[in-house]
Amino acid sequence: MNWEEKVRKVVPYVPGEQPTGSGIVKLNTNENPYPPAPGVADALRSMANDYDEMRRYPDPDAASLTQALADHYGVKEDQVFVGVGSDDVLAMSFLTFFDSDKPLLFPDITYSFYEVWAKLFRIPHKKMPLRCDFTIDPEAYLEPNGGVIIANPNAPTSIYLDLDSIEKIVAGNPDSVVIIDEAYIDFGGKSALPLINKYENLLVVQTFSKSRSLAGARIGMAFGSAKIISYLKDVKFSFNSYTMSQDAIRIGAAVASLSDESYFSDVTNRIVKTREEAVERFKALGFSVLPSATNFLFVSHSDRNASDIYNALKEKNIYVRYFNSPRIDNHLRITIGTPEEMEKLYNALQEVLK
Ligand SMILES: *Cc1c(COP(=O)(O)O)cnc(C)c1O
Repeated sequence: MNWEEKVRKVVPYVPGEQPTGSGIVKLNTNENPYPPAPGVADALRSMANDYDEMRRYPDPDAASLTQALADHYGVKEDQVFVGVGSDDVLAMSFLTFFDSDKPLLFPDITYSFYEVWAKLFRIPHKKMPLRCDFTIDPEAYLEPNGGVIIANPNAPTSIYLDLDSIEKIVAGNPDSVVIIDEAYIDFGGKSALPLINKYENLLVVQTFSKSRSLAGARIGMAFGSAKIISYLKDVKFSFNSYTMSQDAIRIGAAVASLSDESYFSDVTNRIVKTREEAVERFKALGFSVLPSATNFLFVSHSDRNASDIYNALKEKNIYVRYFNSPRIDNHLRITIGTPEEMEKLYNALQEVLK
């Protein structure tokens, strides 16, 4: 009767709500408001013609996708790892690289999945407080540790840490793996990707989910030295050889091909432009806004409760993200939508704040 004692218990990550129905303005999970590149439609059509291929297992190396990414980012194929969204890549990386008695270091306010994986895999960990202005103190990550993971730009704060500081953390930790989670890097920051040729202990993780509008396809990737990537592959192939579906591999390869670059920059530029306008609009509505290098804003209002605003917006079918966590329970994380969606949000806020 004591079987439950032997269960591996964990408090799971709570994803944002995925409401269905019409007339919803959904600004709560940092999805891209624009469709994926036209190459995706072509890939889907050719997949329908080749449907008999589904009898086969997918290529365990996802070579077509790996090759397209290597070409696109100017690295070697053995410096690329792919997985089922960057969540899969990150979870696999935690399992592979963080096996020490010393604590894994990450900010106290960051992607909450990090703590969930640390607990799931029984990795000792230590949360390093962000400064009062929610910026990361790079010096804090030079103390003895079993590894470091930093989201850059950080989430949900939206703040970007300059590349020199990132390099200081990587260079200062030659005895640990340092992971930089760049889920939002395409919206304004400079990627640490070029540093992988200089530092063997650096892993840079990116995703197709945000800037490339493919959250539903589940495609993520990591870049690093050939050695660090080979360790990651050993663990992945000890777990499940066929994580990525044939469909995801084909869609990813199509989008990673260079032909998509002008569409990609058009979409990211539009989002950045809408974001810059949004900063001004939010300030005019009485919000303070953290400096964002992402596709979302992290805001708080001087005289209205964040949870009240969240609930009032939800009643108007507008979904934003509220975290009931220490230090950030009076903030809202708001994804940048289309200009039309943002206009609906400003109008609703005007009523809510009246
Ligand atoms: C969205 C996000 C991810 C995960 O994205 P996938 O859809 O799994 O690729 C990882 N890290 C951060 C910081 C994110 O915001």
